[in-house]
Amino acid sequence: MSGAAPAIEVRDLRKDFGRFQAVKGVSFDVAGGEIVGFLGPNGAGKTTTIKMITGLLKITSGTVRVEGLDIREHAAAAKKKMGYMSQKFSLYPLLTALENIDFFGGISGLSLEERRRHAARIREEVPQAVLRQKVLDIPPGIRQKVAMFVCLMPDPGIILLDEPTSGVDPEARRLFWNDIYGLKTRGKTLLVSTHNLDEAEYCDRILILHNGELIAAGEPDELLRRHGKADIEELFKDAIHDHGQN
Ligand code: ADP
Ligand code: MG
Repeated sequence: MSGAAPAIEVRDLRKDFGRFQAVKGVSFDVAGGEIVGFLGPNGAGKTTTIKMITGLLKITSGTVRVEGLDIREHAAAAKKKMGYMSQKFSLYPLLTALENIDFFGGISGLSLEERRRHAARIREEVPQAVLRQKVLDIPPGIRQKVAMFVCLMPDPGIILLDEPTSGVDPEARRLFWNDIYGLKTRGKTLLVSTHNLDEAEYCDRILILHNGELIAAGEPDELLRRHGKADIEELFKDAIHDHGQN
């Protein structure tokens, strides 16, 4: 382990698509073992930022370090520390859940024994009949569970989930956050994006992104107290307003 380095360190990160600035100089840390919520409406720049952190998207300027390793200079080593669940459909829809698990296990570099041990875990949580269904036919809540399971197969210490609760009903969302909390108790570090501002309550700390800029960051309760607001929705409106005046 690399001592005191934060799990993720982002400094003045920018992304331009042609003349459009999607991410405009964002800086934050994620400490080891915390759940950080990456909140913001559609188009805020959440996916773009997460993809730059994971090394999937070229950085325009700024730096990303993963446990002290610069993502550009040490891409392979930094990527090994992270598991990433993309916002888009990340499983093959025409394969069954089990076939997906087999396939992704096969390319994960894990031994057969590790894969078997891992696969046994999901059988405890999801009924066999569901696992034998085509992913296409599995309800969104369970599908996301399987997708997260696949992303966790290499057992990464740092987990980035991009909108895992999007399109999932409220009860399944709550259960999903339960699973996320379970990962924290196993010592994992989590950065989880969502456009549902009310999911802030599940996070140790939140980052609010708007138009490619970080407009608020901190512990949810502390932020509400500091801004004298009752909920994150109100805080968000306030922060946009304040930010516009700067
Ligand atoms: P979020 O994940 O918060 O919804 P995104 O990071 O997907 O936001 O997008 C941020 C902004 O960047 C949006 O305005 C989006 O249209 C734009 N964008 C994303 N990817 C591209 C791309 N490949 N080319 C041009 N613009 C893009
Ligand atoms: Mg997105």
